[in-house]
Amino acid sequence: MLVFERQRDKGTKKGIVSLCLCGFFLVMTACHGKDNVKENTDPEPGISLALATERAESISGVMYDLAFTIPAAAAEPINGKATIRFTVKDVTRPLVLDFSPDADYIKSVSVGGRPSHFRVVKDHIIIPSSELASDDNAVEITFRAGDASLNRSPEFMYTLFVPARAHLAFPCFDQPNLKARFALELTVPADWQAVSNATETFHEQAGDRVRVRYAETQPLPTYLFAFAAGKFKMESAERNGRWFRMFHRETDTKKVDRNKKAVFDLHASSLEWLESYTTIPYRFGKFDFVLIPSFQFGGMEHAGAIFYNESRILLDESATETQMLNRAETIAHETAHMWFGDLVTMQWFNDVWMKEVFAQFMAAKIVDPAFPNVNHDLRFLTAYYPPAYAVDRTGGTHPIRQELSNLDEAGSLYGNIIYDKAPIVVRQLEYVLGPNRLQDGLRAYLKEFQFGNATWLDLVRILGERTKLDVAAWSRAWVEESGRPSIRTVLEGGRLAFVQSDPQAGRSLRWTERMDVLLGAGQTLASIPVELQSERVEVPLPHSPAPEFVLPTGGGLAYGDFTLDTSTRAFLLQRLPELKDPLTRGAAWVTLWEEMLDRRVRPLDFVSLALTALEREDTEQNVRLILSYLDNAFWKFLPDVSRREIAAKLENVLRAGMERTTSSTMKATYFSAFRSTVTTPDGLAFLELVWRREQKIPGLTLSEPDEAAMALELAVRSIPEANAILGAQRDRFMNPDRKARFEFVMPALSDSPETRDAWFAKLSNVGNRRREPWVTEGLRYLHHPLRAAQSEKYLRPSLELLREIQRTGDIFFPKDWMDATLGGHNTRTAAETVRTFLSVQKDYPIRLHRIILQSADGLFRAAETGGN
Ligand SMILES: [Zn+2]
Repeated sequence: MLVFERQRDKGTKKGIVSLCLCGFFLVMTACHGKDNVKENTDPEPGISLALATERAESISGVMYDLAFTIPAAAAEPINGKATIRFTVKDVTRPLVLDFSPDADYIKSVSVGGRPSHFRVVKDHIIIPSSELASDDNAVEITFRAGDASLNRSPEFMYTLFVPARAHLAFPCFDQPNLKARFALELTVPADWQAVSNATETFHEQAGDRVRVRYAETQPLPTYLFAFAAGKFKMESAERNGRWFRMFHRETDTKKVDRNKKAVFDLHASSLEWLESYTTIPYRFGKFDFVLIPSFQFGGMEHAGAIFYNESRILLDESATETQMLNRAETIAHETAHMWFGDLVTMQWFNDVWMKEVFAQFMAAKIVDPAFPNVNHDLRFLTAYYPPAYAVDRTGGTHPIRQELSNLDEAGSLYGNIIYDKAPIVVRQLEYVLGPNRLQDGLRAYLKEFQFGNATWLDLVRILGERTKLDVAAWSRAWVEESGRPSIRTVLEGGRLAFVQSDPQAGRSLRWTERMDVLLGAGQTLASIPVELQSERVEVPLPHSPAPEFVLPTGGGLAYGDFTLDTSTRAFLLQRLPELKDPLTRGAAWVTLWEEMLDRRVRPLDFVSLALTALEREDTEQNVRLILSYLDNAFWKFLPDVSRREIAAKLENVLRAGMERTTSSTMKATYFSAFRSTVTTPDGLAFLELVWRREQKIPGLTLSEPDEAAMALELAVRSIPEANAILGAQRDRFMNPDRKARFEFVMPALSDSPETRDAWFAKLSNVGNRRREPWVTEGLRYLHHPLRAAQSEKYLRPSLELLREIQRTGDIFFPKDWMDATLGGHNTRTAAETVRTFLSVQKDYPIRLHRIILQSADGLFRAAETGGN
């Protein structure tokens, strides 16, 4: 699946666990006899690792025969019938099926044709062991389907069962390692289309209904089983002897016509590329995809029937090159999942990162050559390194491979470490193994486990057989443990060396990594590949001239916490903007920012360098990178007095950037940085004129959300007109949703402390937290740096609410809540409040503990810097 970028900042989970998926649970429970079917064997809610382990050991040959009758009206019930066939090894224990709707949704249960004495516990149906046979079993259940994972709208519906949401709709074994064949029959309104994983084999209309049957699927986990039905239009095309079908609801036929050729071509070329890379043909028969308006993700890789977010696939005429690149990547990513995830599936969702990272890795290989104008290495650097470091540098970081004791917590695995660090790590793996060995290993892995399940450690073993590198040790450092190496440049007496150490006391990990070190002297640049394996690696220096700077991250590859040598640091603080290669500049910025956070570069020096650099930086990715660092440094790390001193210069540079650049996206980037950092009377007057539509910024069209943001930024600065501006902005809105959001946020930046108190107090009621993005926006203004002194009193109650936030909110909400709460603070007292809170908690959930440490990292560092 491909999640939107905005959603990538998510909760985390603890530690590493050895996932031997067999044995231990059975040993513990094998003493239960046949007559001994008890309450105390009842499974816990959700799908626990223990339950999944036990079932994977005992149950095999699963086959689902499913039938659903879907009425047109979304409020009417969907009735279903499931016949589940399987073999069971251990008939001494009751059979546990997963089904979470209320007990009265179950109409009948029979086993082998006889009524069952089943029981219902939360999320499960329990069939007594006495009704089971050791060979063939057939459990037949008629039921009303739960709607929670069926996404029903008036004219269409679609399933979305990842990670374990199939059992919210129908009874099943809802775990990835009990793959099954599915045979599906759907009865839908006659004017609806229906699509599922396999080919349609039967189609019969009776009155206003049509009954459709599909061929048996290849073995699939429940999370990849899918169907969609509704008023869809269908386009089809043939490419190289293979047919593709696209289902969609777009009414603009010109838009469809404009896009469809490219969309079919992208699928066909991705498939061919993958067949050639893996040497395994596409194994799921037909190839359909469904474009769904407002789909939850960018795409979801259901075998034979990919679902996409329509807006990512059907582009407007004005689409930018970036949007086209994103579309190509989305298609290549989901297509790559047909091998990575669908053909070979993780044993358990703790390895979900693997299918994601390999799908993304393949997508980049497939797509990049078609976009030669894009600097892909710089894109990779700016997209992945800063967010990976943002978590990995904190006390709240965690390994890529995490423990997961119940699938109902699977959502919490997603976060920067999976999305941003894992791609960096796999690229490193390709460098240290060599691309051919990695490809060969992946081929062997896909072949050995096709239609089955595997773990990361299976791949580690296969790769280990192909190289002298100790892949298991490599995996321990990069995947199974948390954090990053500290790497120090030693440049003295004409010798150059890099020395690594483990920042975590008592662990002594050693990372193997490839670095493309850049040496610069005068106009000469040399790139030297260095493989860091042991604690220290010596690098031969060119005879002359002596390097003016040594940048271990210069090639955009190396990952870690780098301590530069003194002369390089001094050189970069003077001359970074003169470096010719945009990738080198990007890498230097990322490195200097980390040096600043580690207090080896003064914040004021960093900010001054950024201001100088912006005057000549012309690469959009670097401008974005510098502006985001600048904003952060300005508000968080500069003492008030420096902030005041530098304010006018900063605003001049940003306004000059707005005027100088020609692309509208660059102008927008500069404008948004200006809006966020403006503090001088002149700057505020200018912003107010723009908001009043009395001043234009040539080449930049401001939208309703832009104007709303301007009004809020002006108000939080407590300018005299603040209340009038907020009132006028409210009246300006044409869009009712945006107006409602604005009205929700307004009290959070009122100039009256009582109003702000009341707004914050309201948040303790879950009903007032439903619109989570509204809440986070309000919190960001409540805790704006200019208001931080008055809002420190909200820190403790916000921390106290976090457990409830997790219980009642979306998976991303706890991290968003903490980021918005702590983001504006930089004082010792605020840091103390957080530390005290953590120190007095007993049995505090580790995942929340980590979230707090991640969100508080900037605060802790800023408080130590002693700016305030
Ligand atoms: Zn994916």
